[in-house]
Amino acid sequence: MPDVKDIIALMEERLSEDEKALVLRASAFAQEKHEGHERNSGEPYYIHLFETARELAELGMGPNTVAAGFLHDCIEDAKVTPKELEKEFGAEILFLVEGVSKLGKLKYQGAERHAESLRRLFVATSQDIRVLMIKLMDRLHNMRTLEHVRPDKRVRIAKETLEIYAPIVDRLNMGRLKRELEDLSFKWVDPRTYEEMQAIIKERGFDQETKLTTLMSAVNDDLKKNGVTNYRTTFRIKGAYSLCKKLERKENDLDRIHDILAIRIIVPSVADCYHALGVVHGLYRPRPGKIKDFIAFPKPNGYRSLHTTVITEEVGLVEIQIRTEEMHREAQFGIASHFAYKSIGSKKSTEHVRSNRVWYEYLIPSLFSRKPTALEETASVDFSLITPSWIKDIGQSHNDASSETDQFLEGLRSDFFNFRVFVFTPKGDVIDLPIDSSPIDFAYAIHSDIGDHLSAAKVNGKLASFDSKLKNGDIVEIETKPSCQPTQKWLDYVKTSLARRHIANFIQKQHAEQMR
Ligand code: MN
Repeated sequence: MPDVKDIIALMEERLSEDEKALVLRASAFAQEKHEGHERNSGEPYYIHLFETARELAELGMGPNTVAAGFLHDCIEDAKVTPKELEKEFGAEILFLVEGVSKLGKLKYQGAERHAESLRRLFVATSQDIRVLMIKLMDRLHNMRTLEHVRPDKRVRIAKETLEIYAPIVDRLNMGRLKRELEDLSFKWVDPRTYEEMQAIIKERGFDQETKLTTLMSAVNDDLKKNGVTNYRTTFRIKGAYSLCKKLERKENDLDRIHDILAIRIIVPSVADCYHALGVVHGLYRPRPGKIKDFIAFPKPNGYRSLHTTVITEEVGLVEIQIRTEEMHREAQFGIASHFAYKSIGSKKSTEHVRSNRVWYEYLIPSLFSRKPTALEETASVDFSLITPSWIKDIGQSHNDASSETDQFLEGLRSDFFNFRVFVFTPKGDVIDLPIDSSPIDFAYAIHSDIGDHLSAAKVNGKLASFDSKLKNGDIVEIETKPSCQPTQKWLDYVKTSLARRHIANFIQKQHAEQMR
């Protein structure tokens, strides 16, 4: 059994004694409540909880989030009541665990056109970005152990990861996680292409490493000669899924891809980045049009780095990426590197609670109706230090219509949600309907028979009238009776043409029968 002390060790210097005790308590509670409960692999369930918590600790999350990582399945799978959890661990941890449980109910049914709306809904539903982080680390471990899942379910989960989770992770600039999630999914979604890509990567990537090492020593010599010190170099090998996407964009012409293997030069300061770029260009001729300054012009997700493709005698075209340590950390951990507990540097602060408000106020304004809780008010964090610059940019770009197109955020800010509502079946399937839709629209959206025999509707567990208007996130339960049928009045209550058509058909048919 893994040892929780390993997680404490990861967080050591930033934990008080009380916080240490909290993490230990959460681990023991999880172990006890999930006793005898097994994963598909036959492993104790606790391993999944431990791995989720460990990944959160590695991301730099604080004790409450790590504790919630241990507890994230206990309401859903171990029959712990919210009341009991709150009594043991308090309101904040209950809030996080309930948030994760709620997200778990969103299921992707493979309707491509819904992918983008689901992504937004997913981000919106997570409310607190810590909830999203727990859900992502939960998914990461599930993906790492996907081989133990039933084949049909496996493909559904892999598709969902590829089409919903990975783009969100990319939007948050979490490069390392994105790559792992993509390749773990790709393997199950399209095994043949995955193997093909792996073969190309092996041939064009790993096999070139020796040649590139020679090239690197030339670069090293020149950097030193020119006074660039205190830097390090690494290689980056492209992920299989990312290569596949790029090949699609380049009409499957492998000769047009030059970054299967790239060199990274990591230097202390921004000035050093440009200095190093100058040195590299002095040594090798850059390809015109291939010099990209993502420092002066960061990508919409906050990614910063200098990219250049140079022409070398040794290996032909080579991509070189130059960045500072900070940019490197950001490109790997993305948003987590900004709000992570450790970067705040104070043992007393309660994580990045205030930055959450920034996060959803800017990202999800149309859904941000929740009043700040006392919890958020007590945060003592100077959030100007931890708010990612791209989030600040969002706040400023309101008047700047011509600013860099940022489709994801534009989309979130747009009135998309003003035209659609997303509601759930009791099983968690998402149904999207026009705004002001009624339970009748919902019933017909599921099946015409259900609509035609609708007898009662419950919204969030309470009986609702047929003319009530559904709201985002409502859970709608439909009851039917064979004797129930649509009436003329229903036509006044519906918004969808689908429902209208079925009701009209039904009434017409009935009319015809009466005439006979
Ligand atoms: Mn889980």
